[in-house]
Amino acid sequence: MGHGRCIRPGSVHSFSESLENDRGRSRSPRHDPLIAHLAACAGEGGLALCRGALHSRGILSSIDFQGEDAEARSEVDAAVDEFVEATRATASLNVGASISLNLSHIGLAIDRALAVANCERILAAATPTGTEVLLNMEGDRYREDILSIYLDLAPRFSTFGITLQACLSRTERDLEMCLEVPGRIRLVKGAYDELGHGTDIRSGSVDAQYRRLAQRLIESGHACAIATHDPSILAGLLATSARRPEAVEFEMLFSVATHRLEKLRDLGRQVRVYLPYGHKWHLYLFHRLAEHPPNLHVALTAMVKELQAR
Ligand SMILES: Cc1cc2nc3c(=O)[nH]c(=O)nc-3n(C[C@H](O)[C@H](O)[C@H](O)COP(=O)(O)OP(=O)(O)OC[C@H]3O[C@@H](n4cnc5c(N)ncnc54)[C@H](O)[C@@H]3O)c2cc1C
Repeated sequence: MGHGRCIRPGSVHSFSESLENDRGRSRSPRHDPLIAHLAACAGEGGLALCRGALHSRGILSSIDFQGEDAEARSEVDAAVDEFVEATRATASLNVGASISLNLSHIGLAIDRALAVANCERILAAATPTGTEVLLNMEGDRYREDILSIYLDLAPRFSTFGITLQACLSRTERDLEMCLEVPGRIRLVKGAYDELGHGTDIRSGSVDAQYRRLAQRLIESGHACAIATHDPSILAGLLATSARRPEAVEFEMLFSVATHRLEKLRDLGRQVRVYLPYGHKWHLYLFHRLAEHPPNLHVALTAMVKELQAR
């Protein structure tokens, strides 16, 4: 799917140059695609509206019905129904879309066993259709359970994957354990407040750790997703992954650095965008705000629009 073209000699260098050379791409908040998307997909029928964006211009997607820390049983049950429906909807379109989810949205905030049962239900719907289901990695409170639930279920569900946060020292060990089971491993720098107690996720040491873990992941030949917008990391890993492009996917957040994703697509690489939807859209914006403060204008504009719409 979507790869096969060879990288021409010199193209890594020009890719790196063109990625660095993208300053001044500011957008007017009024026309921000993130706002337009979240506003459109926030209410009832958000999944249906999401469908239009599922495979646009050779870019695959991973959809996530937004939610976390769900402590009410009714919210958990509704989320599970939505994810099961999402696996059916994406499979029927046959466009290689995957599902991303937080275990704390489907029961982990209440009880581990409930999260396991709900996760199994979603995987049982997704696996026969070949739809990938990827667990997001959450904060300290849930991390150990997310990893152990993943390792317990992954041997039975081949299209089940997990996200690992490169900024944590434990991730080196976690990665080795996840390499023992099938399923895509998505590597991110890490976005939650509790990370490393004061660690700056944009520090050089996190970047170095990301490069090292990504190198290990790519060289293992395991299915993986390189989920970063960082142009210098991307340029280096593009070269590293040239020998096995089919196992390596590049993934970015919806509306962030889309031009970089498009350049990777133009080089023949498999690319995917993480596409949030649902009425809890503010959770997504708050995470993006925490990792990239200039997103404040996006968040404020979205909130004003929401208030105006009421
Ligand atoms: C597909 C995907 C899934 C993710 N899942 C998880 C998860 O499960 N758990 C978790 O902890 N984190 C997750 N994240 C978030 C991740 O941990 C980082 O916080 C986020 O990707 C930003 O880090 P970066 O690697 O792009 O590097 P950074 O050094 O933060 O950014 C590099 C450059 O990218 C641009 N950029 C980065 N982020 C933004 C933004 N939000 N808005 C605008 N520009 C930006 C800027 O130009 C920045 O200079 C996910 C990210 C992606 C892409």
